[in-house]
Amino acid sequence: MTKPLYSLRLATIMPRSSISLGKISGIDIRLDYSWFIIFLLVTWSLTVGYFPLVYPNWSVGQSIAVGLITSLLFFASILAHELMHSIIAQRSGIPVGTITLFIFGGISQISKEPESPNAEFRIAIAGPATSIILGGIFEAIMLLAPDNLEALVAVSFWLGLINLSLGLFNLLPAFPMDGGRVLRSIIWRRSHNLRHATKVASVGGQVISSLFILGGIWLLFSGLILNGVWLILIGWFIFDAASSSYRQFNIQRILQGHRVKEIMIPDCATISPTLTVEELANDYILPSGKRCFVVGDKDKPLGLVTLTDVSSVSKENRLTKSVTEIMTPFEKLKRVSPDDDLHNAMKIITEEGLNQLPVIEDGKVIGMLTRENLLSFISVQQSLGA
Ligand SMILES: [Zn+2]
Repeated sequence: MTKPLYSLRLATIMPRSSISLGKISGIDIRLDYSWFIIFLLVTWSLTVGYFPLVYPNWSVGQSIAVGLITSLLFFASILAHELMHSIIAQRSGIPVGTITLFIFGGISQISKEPESPNAEFRIAIAGPATSIILGGIFEAIMLLAPDNLEALVAVSFWLGLINLSLGLFNLLPAFPMDGGRVLRSIIWRRSHNLRHATKVASVGGQVISSLFILGGIWLLFSGLILNGVWLILIGWFIFDAASSSYRQFNIQRILQGHRVKEIMIPDCATISPTLTVEELANDYILPSGKRCFVVGDKDKPLGLVTLTDVSSVSKENRLTKSVTEIMTPFEKLKRVSPDDDLHNAMKIITEEGLNQLPVIEDGKVIGMLTRENLLSFISVQQSLGA
């Protein structure tokens, strides 16, 4: 699956706590903590379910060891699938920041949408094609392996089957899954209308994911509880992604080409660094209703303190703590410049979970871009049919 960086709701589903495994081709490979759940689940189902059923003569230790190796190779296969998406994206001139393995598989964080239907087609098809080719290779190994090498036969058979299923499953035309992107690229090429293609593909995603959810409910009633829950969760995940994709696409279209300076709030409240948090709350925040203050001078800002910083300080500590102790220092601030694209600013705000971004020019704070500004700009543009 590929995920555009600007996605608003996926960003909330995609957990942030992940560990870096290193870089491949400049791409940061990350393991989300939710991955460990699926890793244990796959290893457990192989060790307790599949291997004892097919090879009852295996010892428990053998089943566990082979289960762990198979599971690791399975996730290496998912990584190969994502890497191929990312490498083809890079070749089409689209930078890729990270690949994250998480509970539902893998996601490549591709920094922008492809510029042509052909590029989109190539990027989308690369993943499933990799899985299907890997599936074929593993099945060939299974066929060529001598029968007495039971572990090799078992591992390659299962990995072959799972990679083939993975490739075919991802080809379902459920946007934003790979097959949905393939579908969008085909409609886009024919109609020359990306907006129309995105709409059709995301409706496809909603329909198919609803079928997953119904199928999952059916499995639940058939007694296959775990499989049922799994299918419902995947269905829900894709439904959410599909329904927000079209909305996000429109938001991106609205924001592109507009500059931060068009909607930033030019005046920006400043406070003295000697204030206590209590004074800031009582004398500045309560009377003005403002959420964000520059500490020091606008021309020589020391940092930024927000309502969130204040509310994280306990009532007793507010009397003694100074605002400089809780502010984000100027050097560490996420910032934009007045000529930055609004779409990029939106990315920073949603990804960092911020309510505002200081607008900085020549080391001076010249204004503030808030989440509220952005949302009202989007809703006005939408009402005017932009
Ligand atoms: Zn994929």
